[in-house]
Amino acid sequence: MITKALQDIRSQLPDNVQLIAVSKTKPIEAIQEAYAAGQRRFGENKVQEMVDKYEHLPKDIEWHFIGHLQSNKVKYIAPFVQLIHAVDSLKLLKEINKQANKNERVIDCLLQFHIADEQSKFGMNVKEAIALLTHPTAADMPHIRIVGVMGMATYTDDKEQIAAEFAQLKSIFDTLKAQCFAQDNAFKHISMGMSGDYAIAIEQGSTMVRLGSTLFGDRDYANV
Ligand SMILES: *Cc1c(COP(=O)(O)O)cnc(C)c1O
Repeated sequence: MITKALQDIRSQLPDNVQLIAVSKTKPIEAIQEAYAAGQRRFGENKVQEMVDKYEHLPKDIEWHFIGHLQSNKVKYIAPFVQLIHAVDSLKLLKEINKQANKNERVIDCLLQFHIADEQSKFGMNVKEAIALLTHPTAADMPHIRIVGVMGMATYTDDKEQIAAEFAQLKSIFDTLKAQCFAQDNAFKHISMGMSGDYAIAIEQGSTMVRLGSTLFGDRDYANV
């Protein structure tokens, strides 16, 4: 099932779009099946769950943290996390820099933007991001590398609205690229698109889609 779903999705993805298999709530066996089918990038949104899975699974897996990350939990994932998708404050960035330093690493991060018309505590706007990026402390963080942006569209059937929101994220990316990262080739990612909207996200310039249910089946939160 998972193997087939992976093959289907891969055949649809352009070469420049990475597939993050969102394995949150799913058992180790499901990840092993995807791993056997060649998948190496997995996304989780709970710190403890990601640490447990990391410990039980092959070490060449790239672990992507895709949820809201509390500063006091960064230390648990800092030794191994590949990419933190949802950074939305200087406080969090500072803590990631500190924990990465302790682990003698540089940790890649994406800045999260609020593009949906739903209420959410998470995600910045462009002004806030530029304030963060130009803040003196941000210039002195050798253990983090900001490699792009991330966002989630509104949960709706309205495809035009979703396309407009993803286009907004692409435009935020372009603005930041021009204003803050013009000389920085590492700043190149736009993490957008989930099971329900990834085709639209790719049309709008996504470089990373985060797919859960379409690969692993529906999540059953009752068993977590
Ligand atoms: C759960 C989750 C996904 C995957 O959602 P699906 O609809 O199952 O593909 C993607 N991104 C984030 C941030 C998530 O929390």
